[in-house]
Amino acid sequence: MDVILAENLGFCYGVKRAIQLAEDAAAPNQVTNTLGPIIHNPQMVAKLAENGVGTVDSLDEVSEGNIIIRSHGVGPQVYDRVEKMGLTMVDATCPHVRKAQTSAKMLADEGYQVVIIGEKYHPEVKSILEWAGDKAIAIETEEEADSLPRFGKLGVVAQTTFSGTKFRDVVGRLLDKSTDLKILRTICTATDQRQSAAVELAAQVDMMIVVGGKNSANTTRLAQLCGEKCKTYHVETADELRDDWFENIKKIGITAGASTPDWIIKEVYKKCQKK
Ligand code: SF4
Repeated sequence: MDVILAENLGFCYGVKRAIQLAEDAAAPNQVTNTLGPIIHNPQMVAKLAENGVGTVDSLDEVSEGNIIIRSHGVGPQVYDRVEKMGLTMVDATCPHVRKAQTSAKMLADEGYQVVIIGEKYHPEVKSILEWAGDKAIAIETEEEADSLPRFGKLGVVAQTTFSGTKFRDVVGRLLDKSTDLKILRTICTATDQRQSAAVELAAQVDMMIVVGGKNSANTTRLAQLCGEKCKTYHVETADELRDDWFENIKKIGITAGASTPDWIIKEVYKKCQKK
């Protein structure tokens, strides 16, 4: 079987860094937790748990030790609370996310109405909203942009993983909403690179296997994009590959989300080669 890996796939810089920081923070006789799952990949979360890095959903669940802030980041009140509680913070906020947070705060401080273009309920967008203060708004669609009133000063930032094309479309609808418009395109290239490489490969093969957490938004998006080009399956591990998918298939492409560990990609690759 001809199996081709996408040119860009798997862990991005921010996720690699967060995992490394979490692994470094783990120590015997030391309580270490991440605030929320470190990445949207259940296998990686389980592996870290085996090495002593647990997961808590809220600071109410901890009273001592290290608390790791994941790459999506958190709002300023979490930093304050961790300090008051006397916990040791390991800040694994991705520098690109940090940039989006500080950009939103800067715009708010300069008196701009902040609009964040991204998925409202995504933890990263929530964290950017918190840095931008009470009045900030998150929108995702052109229709939502149309429904906004006019503002004296309008400042726009993006969720780092938002699609560049969609960002342009939504921003297009904001152009008439203010005469003082500041747009900071805080999109990280990792997502665009993975998406372009996946689409390019999907156009050349009979079937794509997209590897990554079913709860990972960026992996699900890769699967959607590949699905527009060829038969596509989204799996979390090699165990999910089914023999009947491979009937009459000569060329397979593999891609993986930014939160998919290398070892899972390798297992899927090897198993596909044997089909
Ligand atoms: S996708 Fe980009 S912004 Fe998000 S964690 Fe990875 S490197 Fe950072």
